Amino acid sequence: MADKYDVIVVGAGPGGMTAALYAARANLNVLVLDRGPYGGQMNNTDAIDNYPGFTEIKGPELSQKMYDTLMKFEPDYKYGNVQTVALDGNEKVIKTDDDHEYRAPILIIATGSDHRHLGVPGEEEYSGKGVSYCAVCDAAFFKDEDVTVIGGGDSAIEEGIYLAQLAKSVTVVHRRDELRAQPTLQKRAFANKKMKFVWNAQTEEIVGDGNRVTSIKYRDKETGEEKELPTAGVFIYVGVLPQTAPFKELGILDDQGWIVTDDHMKTKVPGIFALGDVREKDLRQIANAVGEGSVAGQAAYNYYQDLKDRN
Ligand SMILES: Cc1cc2nc3c(=O)[nH]c(=O)nc-3n(C[C@H](O)[C@H](O)[C@H](O)COP(=O)(O)OP(=O)(O)OC[C@H]3O[C@@H](n4cnc5c(N)ncnc54)[C@H](O)[C@@H]3O)c2cc1C
Repeated sequence: MADKYDVIVVGAGPGGMTAALYAARANLNVLVLDRGPYGGQMNNTDAIDNYPGFTEIKGPELSQKMYDTLMKFEPDYKYGNVQTVALDGNEKVIKTDDDHEYRAPILIIATGSDHRHLGVPGEEEYSGKGVSYCAVCDAAFFKDEDVTVIGGGDSAIEEGIYLAQLAKSVTVVHRRDELRAQPTLQKRAFANKKMKFVWNAQTEEIVGDGNRVTSIKYRDKETGEEKELPTAGVFIYVGVLPQTAPFKELGILDDQGWIVTDDHMKTKVPGIFALGDVREKDLRQIANAVGEGSVAGQAAYNYYQDLKDRN
């Protein structure tokens, strides 16, 4: 027997929690499902200094505050790793990996994105043995060591600055000759005495001794020379991938796998909305995930009223 709701929100990051808050506050019967801790990517972020209302706040603390606000409106909150979504008339049929089935006329997708892999030899072999995608999770293992960050965007530089608090040195290896990160982050990184930069460097291999990472090999794109950089840890931030595998059959993804919506967060399937990092868009941040969550929650309410009027 399936559990029935008015609205099911998949993903309890900042976007999903806000959408659920708006829908539950409008008196809809809401279920939130997540396969991890509430807060999503905020749990992997140390200090957030660009979310209005807080001069600076730790990611897990902001997650807790958003969760507490959401729970005031009493939605159901359950663990669930969503595997498939099918359509049965107006109903969306959601199945999780523990064989639970949930049904609702409205599905809100807020499953975010995950880190992209570099795809070089040694990356998989040394994952968890010096290769990491989360400085907040793993920095403590590299106290007073020389570590490397690969990438040049916001996440790479933010995490590099975080690592520099504990590590002996942080070398940012970037394939271009300038960073893409926001100017304020760049300024802080360039002023940090523990941070060094290697430009125009294409990482080609992560090398280890069988147990742990010992160095990376990269090609200098200007000279073509192959070089080796000794390091105890490699933190990789080279982009993100949409978390949309369960939604492939719905015909709502673009050719890169991101979900396409209109300004009301509606996908082309009536009753399915999407918001936050999982959407096809330019800027992936907490502030706009929250903003889109409010739009999706309200749009879900309007859709529910229309359905009621028609029946
Ligand atoms: C290292 C790092 C630092 C960052 N720093 C900042 C910053 O300082 N300021 C800022 O504004 N933004 C920052 N961001 C970006 C910000 O965290 C994201 O933009 C934001 O969390 C997106 O929110 P979301 O709700 O769309 O998705 P997410 O936060 O990614 O949440 C998605 C949720 O969906 C769940 N999920 C996924 N698939 C399934 C499934 N199949 N079944 C069930 N649950 C599922 C996941 O477990 C997760 O909890 C940072 C990101 C990273 C990685």
